[in-house]
Amino acid sequence: MWKSPKANPVNALVSLFYPPLCAICSEPIGSSAYLCASCRRKAPRIQPPFCFTCSEPFSGDITQVFSCANCAHRHLSFESAVAVYRSRGVVRQILHEFKYGHQIHLRHPVAEWLNETLRDPRLEGHRFDLVVPVPLHPARKRERGFNQAELLAQSLSARAGLTMREPLERIRYTTTQTAFDRTERMENLRNAFRLRKKANVRGLRVLLIDDVLTTGSTLSECARVLKAAGAISVHAATAARA
Ligand SMILES: [Zn+2]
Ligand SMILES: [Zn+2]
Repeated sequence: MWKSPKANPVNALVSLFYPPLCAICSEPIGSSAYLCASCRRKAPRIQPPFCFTCSEPFSGDITQVFSCANCAHRHLSFESAVAVYRSRGVVRQILHEFKYGHQIHLRHPVAEWLNETLRDPRLEGHRFDLVVPVPLHPARKRERGFNQAELLAQSLSARAGLTMREPLERIRYTTTQTAFDRTERMENLRNAFRLRKKANVRGLRVLLIDDVLTTGSTLSECARVLKAAGAISVHAATAARA
């Protein structure tokens, strides 16, 4: 079902004779890498100060914990949403090709960006009982061939030695969120997710995973459903922040 070029036997044969190339600049790279060192360095990191709740960077000298305009005057159901990179430049390019271009092997560099969130002070030292990906609607998953959040959650849970499960399901095939403002996004997401039958998150501390954080509305709605089902806490981590 996945259209991975790596799974193609001809490509497998070709890679025996030619070294792998950087997914961005096509320079030859080591066999375990996907991006060359130079492209890797171009990934834009989120520099402090940034919003403690949603990782939105803020210009200026702010030393105390603060909440940004995105988070003010609204209730977000997660404790914090952590991203280490901005979805700009090479990060945006790779995320886009991974998600919309059927380039499933690009989950590896994306997962590396996501896995760096585990060293963020907002997540480091926290005990999580469960890693949960944001679900795709089954029709959307069929269309895309995979759920990018699920692939990323698999990588992170393996790295951190945590259990991954999928207690949530997406029951509404929502139109694309991109053109909507914050209020419209929340409206569009109402009743989009629910707990699967027989899923149990009661008493659990959850780490929720998605590829990109935009306004935080999707993560917040998933966190709301998880908490309504008895989860003690929901932290979120994404590979990048829009
Ligand atoms: Zn490169
Ligand atoms: Zn914020």
